[in-house]
Amino acid sequence: MRRSFIHSTGTLVSGLSRHRPRSFLPALNVAASRHVSPPQTRRLIHSRATDFLPINLPDWTDSQRSVREAIAKIVSKYPDEYWMDHDTEHKFPWELYKDLAANGWLGICLPEEFGGSALGISEAAVMLQTISESGACMNGASSVHMNIFGLEPVAKFGTTEQKERWLPPLIQGQERACFGVTEPNTGLDTLKLQSTARREGDYYIAKGSKIFISTAQVAQKILLLARTTPLDKVDKPSRGLSLFYTDLNRDAVKITEIPKMGRSAVDTNVLFFEDWKIPAEDLVGGFNAEGDGFKMILHGMNAERVLVAAEALGIGFAALRRASQYAGERVVFGKPIGTYQGIQHPLAECWMQLESARLVVYLAGRMYDEGYTGGEYANAAKFLASEAAFKAAERAIMTHGGMGYAKEYHVERYLREATLSRIAPVSAEMIKNYVGQQVLGLPKSY
Ligand SMILES: Cc1cc2nc3c(=O)[nH]c(=O)nc-3n(C[C@H](O)[C@H](O)[C@H](O)COP(=O)(O)OP(=O)(O)OC[C@H]3O[C@@H](n4cnc5c(N)ncnc54)[C@H](O)[C@@H]3O)c2cc1C
Repeated sequence: MRRSFIHSTGTLVSGLSRHRPRSFLPALNVAASRHVSPPQTRRLIHSRATDFLPINLPDWTDSQRSVREAIAKIVSKYPDEYWMDHDTEHKFPWELYKDLAANGWLGICLPEEFGGSALGISEAAVMLQTISESGACMNGASSVHMNIFGLEPVAKFGTTEQKERWLPPLIQGQERACFGVTEPNTGLDTLKLQSTARREGDYYIAKGSKIFISTAQVAQKILLLARTTPLDKVDKPSRGLSLFYTDLNRDAVKITEIPKMGRSAVDTNVLFFEDWKIPAEDLVGGFNAEGDGFKMILHGMNAERVLVAAEALGIGFAALRRASQYAGERVVFGKPIGTYQGIQHPLAECWMQLESARLVVYLAGRMYDEGYTGGEYANAAKFLASEAAFKAAERAIMTHGGMGYAKEYHVERYLREATLSRIAPVSAEMIKNYVGQQVLGLPKSY
């Protein structure tokens, strides 16, 4: 049973009595209302695409609508101009980050006994979609994504002592973490990664490299996957990898930022390390968990796909909102361009594609929260949402004509950010491989 509720100020409050009678709970109670509302007496229709952060999405639960409303209040303080400036100047969005931390949102999915709110992926997806949809896109979502979800392997597999040590500072926003999995030589072939960690007394000595590690410039901690038993000494390749949550020691780790196409408010980096002494107590799960790291990382993957899909949806809806507004106002050949079907119909298609992706995203989130462990819906959600978002951003540019290519209408930034959701954390091709093999039963080609 979940116990958090959302105060009318937009603050997420945890720790209410589990046994409090339902009728005494506050009006915006999340705990009591995770199920879809009973049939409405009035017909609840989807808001117009031009509305700013619409609340009345017909299939959402009351708790999801409450999250939407509360997060919308916060993100409305950070307009598109804020994000354009932070993207152009490569500035981390500390103001939003601190605002969300101060209002209790960073621990939305983490256990209550460590200060979190123990809500589900269904609610976290709403939170991240709403941040993204405000025009913050991945710049906003990625600034908190790791706090929201990255430490799920620790919450699930960490010892009590580790959770007490690591989760509260993360939830309170005092510590930031980055996620170190991808490597330059092995890419998506994670099981072949080459970074090693060798046990020596009370330490592991780590050596290797990582690439595309987001937020390493501002993080104090890293969740690091490294091989502790050589590949030729394990019975299967998924064994022998270990997960560490440790200080990102800048004396031992060389961190170099990668200039990139977009999402530039949040840094992405190459890491090189040699003779990096990691305390053995920082092995997630304790001493007996050496070699179990891949299993721990896998645990969080479906949820992460749902969250990234929700972030992509946010970009798509933001793009569609700007495109529809512009199409309604811009007059060429004597009429608003939205009158012309060459402009209107592609936008109508974008709405239908985004909405169908949204239904799969929130279905996958609900299934995850109810304990479903298969990956087909989470993968499909990530694929459909990122493709729909990319298409909506591209159509938004075309709708704006020359102004779509200018920075002041923001849609070129949306397109750059929508591109990222197609690549990370898993590419469209690997999702199709998964569906081809796992759903259709076709042979593996690699
Ligand atoms: C901005 C950004 C931020 C990121 N942040 C992080 C982070 O914080 N932490 C982290 O660990 N990683 C991070 N990543 C890494 C990201 O998860 C990877 O880029 C992504 O998983 C793809 O891996 P790769 O770039 O090595 O591609 P590669 O593995 O080199 O693949 C290249 C291309 O080949 C295709 N391909 C490869 N194998 C197959 C196959 N068998 N069948 C069909 N196609 C195939 C891929 O789909 C892709 O199109 C980030 C990436 C970016 C761009």
